[in-house]
Amino acid sequence: MTGKYTDTTFDFVIIGSGFGGLCSGFILADEGYSVCIIEKNKQLGGNLQVFSRDKVIFDTGVHYIGSLDEGQLQHQFFKYFQLTDKLKMKRMDADGYDIIRFPDGKEYKYGMGYDNFIKILVTDFPEEKLAIRTFCDKIQEICRLFPLYNLEENISPEYINNTEFREINAEAYIASLTNNVRLQNVLAGSNPLYAGVKNKTPLYVHALILNSYIISSYKLVDGSSQLATLMARNIRQRGGELIKNRKVTGGVFDDEGLLTGVTLADGSMIKGKNFISNMHPAATIDIFGESRFLGAYRKRVKALENTISSFSMYISFKKDSFPYMNHNVYYYMVEDVWSGTHYTTEKWPEGFFICTPASSANESFAEGMSVMTYMRYEETEQWAQTFNTTSEVTSRGSDYEQFKKQKEELILVELEKLYPGIREKIVDVYSSTPLTFRDYIGNYDGSMYGILKDSNEPMRTFINPRTKIPNLYLTGQNLIFHGILGVTIGAFVTCFNFVDSKKIIDKVKNA
Ligand SMILES: Cc1cc2nc3c(=O)[nH]c(=O)nc-3n(C[C@H](O)[C@H](O)[C@H](O)COP(=O)(O)OP(=O)(O)OC[C@H]3O[C@@H](n4cnc5c(N)ncnc54)[C@H](O)[C@@H]3O)c2cc1C
Repeated sequence: MTGKYTDTTFDFVIIGSGFGGLCSGFILADEGYSVCIIEKNKQLGGNLQVFSRDKVIFDTGVHYIGSLDEGQLQHQFFKYFQLTDKLKMKRMDADGYDIIRFPDGKEYKYGMGYDNFIKILVTDFPEEKLAIRTFCDKIQEICRLFPLYNLEENISPEYINNTEFREINAEAYIASLTNNVRLQNVLAGSNPLYAGVKNKTPLYVHALILNSYIISSYKLVDGSSQLATLMARNIRQRGGELIKNRKVTGGVFDDEGLLTGVTLADGSMIKGKNFISNMHPAATIDIFGESRFLGAYRKRVKALENTISSFSMYISFKKDSFPYMNHNVYYYMVEDVWSGTHYTTEKWPEGFFICTPASSANESFAEGMSVMTYMRYEETEQWAQTFNTTSEVTSRGSDYEQFKKQKEELILVELEKLYPGIREKIVDVYSSTPLTFRDYIGNYDGSMYGILKDSNEPMRTFINPRTKIPNLYLTGQNLIFHGILGVTIGAFVTCFNFVDSKKIIDKVKNA
């Protein structure tokens, strides 16, 4: 690569165009800095990437977004990013945006708005009004503790070091509210949103994510990639540059240990004054060189457990054959909603997440269906040496295809029980494994949401945006929390190292 990219020294070079990288790029470009975002894939957006089969658009990593009603947090962020007038969104069913379904066929609906959420669940559990109310109060109380979640700028060291509320375990807290096991499982029923682990997931993770969806839930119509496309357009309008299909392979340093540029796979170099990595911290360490990070930090980051990966199945339907569902289904084949991350291969899957993507072409019938279930990276380890993305197309082999077909069939058998006759409506079935996520996102194990937060050691899983390399910073889902809302907040935390936090928060509030 030559020309304007290689001749310029950018104020900020951002490695990776996941939503966290794009948000950081926007914030800095909007403040007048020159920004260059480098993305290894052909498509921008990381987990916002979509693909199309049989003319159906499938999302790969974002199926619904919370707190998008006028004035709510994500809506206010999207306004600041100048997205709201262009985004195609669909508000989900107010009386059941998520349905939690158990092996006995009983379904429980999550209502939108706390009053509605409580009202619907109290109908199912009339004896448990106090437990349900206490749960909702606690969720909201915890959310109030996070300054940026409430558009407050005061991130004091006391707040960062206050580990007490971070040590509350989600499963244990819910179990302390009621002896009704079914209610416990209902209240934690959407835990695949953060790949919850029974003895580890903190209540604050459950609270921040569940709260954002309870207050309002939306699907993106015609694919989540629109978020990346619109952000890229807005960054370019502010003078920013985005380079696609170029992988960052290393760093160039001066004698003082400052990064002066990143090298790309084609041998060229992009120069910058400051650098932000949207990659997983472990991958960041490897790219810039282990010796440049403190041994203890390196060891800690590399030893941190990641959330489990996913086997995702995508179904295209015959025209007007399967009704569009304006809600998601969390389908459990076991009573315990926490056990799925520790499945045995003999009893796989223990449950899955089901949604039908929203399309502007057909509001009554679904064009397709996405089904996601947990899968450990080790299950695909025998093909670990293969690499396959649209930038570098290779076959992983017929045995891999066979493996996927077997897994698809296990899921289809279950789907038949839930939706009798579904097979006749299907045009084709496609699937992706942990290797797909690994290759497209650039982490090591296809982890869905990055580093697993642990209520037993909350500060150990805390990742600071600053690194030992003075002008290299981190952003993305490993920082504060994952999801579109989590990485948006994370981008602000990263950028507050360079911009006036009060000024930016005021800009968001007044957007
Ligand atoms: C199956 C699944 C379902 C999900 N569902 C939802 C949902 O419904 N709602 C929601 O809010 N969130 C959801 N999430 C979570 C959400 O998608 C992520 O938390 C978020 O998108 C991560 O953003 P990020 O900024 O960390 O970047 P990522 O999306 O992790 O992207 C990182 C980017 O860096 C690039 N990169 C890596 N290495 C290099 C390199 N060497 N050179 C150049 N570029 C590089 C990658 O190609 C990628 O584009 C889901 C995630 C998964 C996996």
